[in-house]
Amino acid sequence: MSKRPTPKKQQANSQSSRRYKTFQNKARKRLVATTSLNKCPKCKEDKLSHTACPTCGFYNGRSVIDKNKEMDKITKVKA
Ligand SMILES: [Zn+2]
Repeated sequence: MSKRPTPKKQQANSQSSRRYKTFQNKARKRLVATTSLNKCPKCKEDKLSHTACPTCGFYNGRSVIDKNKEMDKITKVKA
């Protein structure tokens, strides 16, 4: 025979949602801790650390990615 075959009282919706919220907050904090976002010193956008900024193309004070050069979209394959 088990100790508690059935719950004594019905659990309120707020109680279960509160429990789920703590789980959600912990998961969010864990995600934030794994990724380290820095502010770009030039354009002040969020960027991954130790990588070039995807918006302005700067890294370590110099331009690494040329953002002015436009890439042609490949629409036809030349034989
Ligand atoms: Zn930038």
